[in-house]
Amino acid sequence: MIRVGINGYGTIGKRVADAVRAQPDMEVVGVAKTRPNFEAQSAVEKGFDLYAAIEDRKPQFGEAGIELAGDVEELVEASDIVVDACPSGIGADNAEMYREYDTPALLQGGEDSDVVGASFNARSNYDAVEGVDLVRVVSCNTTGLSRLIAPLQEAYGIEKVRATLVRRGGDPTQSDRGPINDILPDPVGLPSHHGPDVNTIYPDLDIDTLGLKVPATLMHMHSVNVSLESEPTAEKVRTLLEGERRMFVIPEWLGVDGSGAIKELAQDADRPRADIWENCIWGESISMEGNDLYLFQAIHQESDVVPENVDAIRAVLGEADQEESITTTDEAMGLDVPLTQMR
Ligand code: NAD
Repeated sequence: MIRVGINGYGTIGKRVADAVRAQPDMEVVGVAKTRPNFEAQSAVEKGFDLYAAIEDRKPQFGEAGIELAGDVEELVEASDIVVDACPSGIGADNAEMYREYDTPALLQGGEDSDVVGASFNARSNYDAVEGVDLVRVVSCNTTGLSRLIAPLQEAYGIEKVRATLVRRGGDPTQSDRGPINDILPDPVGLPSHHGPDVNTIYPDLDIDTLGLKVPATLMHMHSVNVSLESEPTAEKVRTLLEGERRMFVIPEWLGVDGSGAIKELAQDADRPRADIWENCIWGESISMEGNDLYLFQAIHQESDVVPENVDAIRAVLGEADQEESITTTDEAMGLDVPLTQMR
C-alpha cells in the first residue's frame, strides 16, 4: 500500500483524501489542519488521523474536543508521499519540510511552476514525473484545457488554441470573493496566466487565453477555438471526445443548459459533494468551420484535479503505467460511471 499524507484539508484536500482512501493500492496516513473547524470535525468523523499543521494552535484542537495524532512533521515522515493542498503559496513554503524528510510531494495549481521539478496532467504527460520530488498538479482550468488538447493533438495536430475562460468568482464557501454584481476582464491584458500554464505541460503549443470573472460559484466555462492541422468533421471530433476518459459530452436530449443543470445532474446521480470530475462539453457546441474547431466546456473547479492527484501519486512513485493508473483511479472513484447514471 502507498502511504499518503494530506497536508491542507480544505476544498481540494478533503476530496483528495476520500479519493485516495477509495484506491485499492493506497492508504491515508492522516490529514493536517491548521485549526479546528467543521472540516477538521468531519475528518475525525471519517476516521482520518488529524495532525496539527501549526504548533502554536495545537491547544485549540483540545479545547474543541478534537484529538490530534501528532504534528505535521510526523505525518510527512510517516508518508511515502504527501499531497499538499494548502492555499496558494504555502505549498512552496512547505517544500523545505518535504525535502528535509526526503518525502516526495505534490503541490497544487496555485503554486508557481518554477518551484517544482515538473507540472502534471495524467492524460498529457504521465511519464514525465517519475522520480521527481516536487510535482505540481496543474490548476482546474489548465487540467480542463490539457485534457482537451491531448486527443486533438494526437488525432489531428494543432496549429493554435484560443480560449476564453469565464471563471467563477469564488468557490461556494468563499464569501469574501467576487465580483458580486459585475463582469470583470481578468486580467484586462493578454494573456491570462492559463495559456503559459498550459505551456508547462505542452511547451511547444501555440495558445492564447483570455480570462473573465463573473458572479458565479458553480463552475468555470471555457469558450474554445482550436485551429487544427486537418479538417475532420464535427461528428468525427465529437466521437473522438466521447471516447475519452474524464470527458462527458453532453447529449442534446438531456436538456442541460448550463452549469446549474450540470450540478443538479451530479446531485441526482449521487456523486459525492455533487462533484463533476469530467470536462463537460456540450455536444451541440462542437462545430467545425474549415480547420477551426469551436466548443463550450464547463469545468468543476473543486473536483476535476482530484483524480489527477491520485494518478500523480502513482506516476511520481513509478507504481503503475498511465493506462493502469487512470483505469484504477476512475473505477475506485466511480468516475467510470457516466454522469447520466446513478452510482
Ligand atoms: P482551501 O482554502 O479550501 O483549503 C486549504 C486548506 O489548507 C484550508 O483548510 C486551510 O485551513 C489549510 N491551511 C492553511 N495553511 C496551512 C498550513 N500551513 N498547513 C496546513 N494546512 C493549511 O483551498 P483550496 O481551494 O483547497 O486550494 C488549495 C490549492 O489547490 C491551491 O493551490 C489552489 O490554487 C489549488 N486549487 C484550487 C481549486 C479550487 O477551485 N478550489 C481548484 C484547483 C486547484
